[in-house]
Amino acid sequence: MKRTPVPRSVARCIAVAAVQLDPAQGMQHLHQLDMRGSAAAQGAVVLGIESSCDDTAAALWDGRRIVAQRQADQDIHRQYGGVVPELASRAHQSHILPLIHAVLADAGLVDHALADALSGESPKAAMARLQGSAAPIDAIAVTRGPGLLGSLLVGMGFAKGLALGWNKPLVGVHHMKAHVLAHFIEPPFPPFPFLCLTVSGGHTQLVRVDAPMAMTVLGQTRDDAAGEAFDKCAKMLGLPYPGGPEIDRLAGEGDPERFRFKKPEMPELDFSFSGLKTSVRYFLDKERRRDPDFAQKHLADLCAGIQADIIAMLLDKLERAVQKSGLKHVALAGGVSANAGLRGALARLAAEKGWTTYIPALAHCTDNGAMIARAGAFLYEAGQRDSMDLQATARLAW
Ligand code: ADP
Ligand code: MG
Repeated sequence: MKRTPVPRSVARCIAVAAVQLDPAQGMQHLHQLDMRGSAAAQGAVVLGIESSCDDTAAALWDGRRIVAQRQADQDIHRQYGGVVPELASRAHQSHILPLIHAVLADAGLVDHALADALSGESPKAAMARLQGSAAPIDAIAVTRGPGLLGSLLVGMGFAKGLALGWNKPLVGVHHMKAHVLAHFIEPPFPPFPFLCLTVSGGHTQLVRVDAPMAMTVLGQTRDDAAGEAFDKCAKMLGLPYPGGPEIDRLAGEGDPERFRFKKPEMPELDFSFSGLKTSVRYFLDKERRRDPDFAQKHLADLCAGIQADIIAMLLDKLERAVQKSGLKHVALAGGVSANAGLRGALARLAAEKGWTTYIPALAHCTDNGAMIARAGAFLYEAGQRDSMDLQATARLAW
């Protein structure tokens, strides 16, 4: 079998992992959590690491719930009006170590004083100390794709280092499937089978979910994602990045009927958002020739119109998917689920059609470590174990 040499960055993580974890104390702490918890069977304890785009995030799932979660934003991209891949990887590099320390400390698995005392110890000695001791974590789950390759590699390298250092299994997680499984972090959990509309900055997908490991993509975007459409239109209006929340805020004060844009017709359950973006661009170019301040003067109405168009496209396909599948349990995932207009419109449609809707807490809709830990626990419990040969993949197949 082909063996991949352990890179230097991974070796560094092994040393870090070995000196920082105090298994005895961690076990005791998890035990206490256990005593406070319900009588339900204890599932796997999984550390989840996410670094696919511009959020460095990690969380610990203790078998029943998330006991610690942290996320580090990367403000650096704001000044460029979008994510700069190279800057994202560098920011992940500087965030990931303190972030994971913080998660482990929040969960009570790390004794900071002990970690400081041990920091002078050699990796070899630290590894020897760990041998035979039962660390309270069952597996390390990490996003393996899709995403920015440089960003994914930071999380993957770190996760491999931890897995080697702690002698724990590595579990690779598909980022988009984890967005769907975020619905199982906190109740109410949707019953199987259900439909999930995942709308984020990089993806727009309609998924039929029969079980945690049985999901089928019914339709997806052929070009831009819904979040990308928000962000690109916002940029044309001179709004800061990320534009989705800005459009959402301004749309609340605008008239959605004043400006509407051309929407492309896509076959079946697929989406397309690039036509809307082009239509907004031509319209603004034309109006700005007459009045350079046009966008500023009509900002709220423009935002309301753009948002209404995006929502109409999303809900039209969702309604068709419900009709086709007969499923009336409908879930929303991804960063765009934060959109107030979308939430309102979905609630009205659901009431009218008799659907039951599910939207995770906002922190679990945008990219987060909790969904990776939760998805990792499902995969680990189903027997998935990945080797050190696991690759980060930018365009990971479903
Ligand atoms: P990705 O996984 O692609 O990085 P996330 O799931 O983190 O995306 O979501 C980020 C996207 O969500 C961005 O495109 C952002 O503009 C969009 N977004 C966040 N909040 C809102 C909102 N309130 N309305 C519309 N879009 C939003
Ligand atoms: Mg995402």
